[in-house]
Amino acid sequence: MDKKKVAIIGGGPAGVSAALYTLRANIDTTILAHGESALNKAEKIDNYYGFPDGISGPDLYDNGINEATAIGAKVINEEVVGLNFGAKLEIKTTDNIYEADAVILAMGSQRKAPKIDGIKEFEGNGVSYCAVCDGFFYRGKTVAVLGDGEYAANERAELEPIAAEVIALDDLDVIERFSGDQKLKKVEFKDGSTQEIDGLFVAIGTAGAGDLAKKVGIFTDENNKIMVDENMATNIPGIYAAGDCTGGFLQVSKAVADGAMAANSVIKYLRTK
Ligand SMILES: Cc1cc2nc3c(=O)[nH]c(=O)nc-3n(C[C@H](O)[C@H](O)[C@H](O)COP(=O)(O)OP(=O)(O)OC[C@H]3O[C@@H](n4cnc5c(N)ncnc54)[C@H](O)[C@@H]3O)c2cc1C
Repeated sequence: MDKKKVAIIGGGPAGVSAALYTLRANIDTTILAHGESALNKAEKIDNYYGFPDGISGPDLYDNGINEATAIGAKVINEEVVGLNFGAKLEIKTTDNIYEADAVILAMGSQRKAPKIDGIKEFEGNGVSYCAVCDGFFYRGKTVAVLGDGEYAANERAELEPIAAEVIALDDLDVIERFSGDQKLKKVEFKDGSTQEIDGLFVAIGTAGAGDLAKKVGIFTDENNKIMVDENMATNIPGIYAAGDCTGGFLQVSKAVADGAMAANSVIKYLRTK
């Protein structure tokens, strides 16, 4: 019989901890990890069990990836840009589509929105973070996508069949502000020119966990953190979340515990399938 498959999105403490359990339960385990872990920004982790002299964040990250790889995890460095579900769960990266029987979202904390005037102010009134979720509201209208990476390209591709015009705002340095009254109306450039828009989709850097979660209808809270129950299950069967992307205490110890619990839930879930 074919092994069941779990895809873990994120290779930080939460994702790796989950993999250490799913692999030992003989589940085919793929870690998709692209971009920075919070650990890469941490000079020294001084408060984690088993390291009396502390350990550098990047070293702890590499140790984790090596530990998972050594017992059979496939680690793929591709940026995840979409999720979908049908008979199987589908994970869309910039290069491929992967299928899995269960998914663990362990993508760390949400990145901040860029500090351009108007973005925060018009959130929900013309500013969105998810083309699949909100694109329909802009059918036949003019929208802009802010960002220059693969994730932004993916968001533009989602919007092109729906909107009348999709403008790529791929150079943040030329933008002065976004303005409007009750709703977003235009982008103002530093050279004094303006562009009327009905909607703005922010897609800077890689897709955040909350953005991806919303694409498949996973509930997030007011801070865009993924909502989970005590077993790290989201509201979508087969999709679990762990670590900083679920909010709470943003520490390695909590991420590791979440990952273990999410894996335990995946193991039980896949036994019933
Ligand atoms: C400066 C700093 C200092 C810190 N110091 C401490 C400390 O002393 N002690 C402590 O306990 N904690 C500390 N932390 C917090 C700790 O680093 C985090 O709580 C922990 O790393 C969270 O683990 P995680 O697995 O949830 O997320 P992360 O470690 O952030 O990992 C997220 C993973 O998801 C991947 N990813 C994200 N988006 C995508 C995508 N679209 N496609 C594919 N992969 C994606 C990333 O590449 C990464 O592998 C510190 C954090 C910072 C920023």
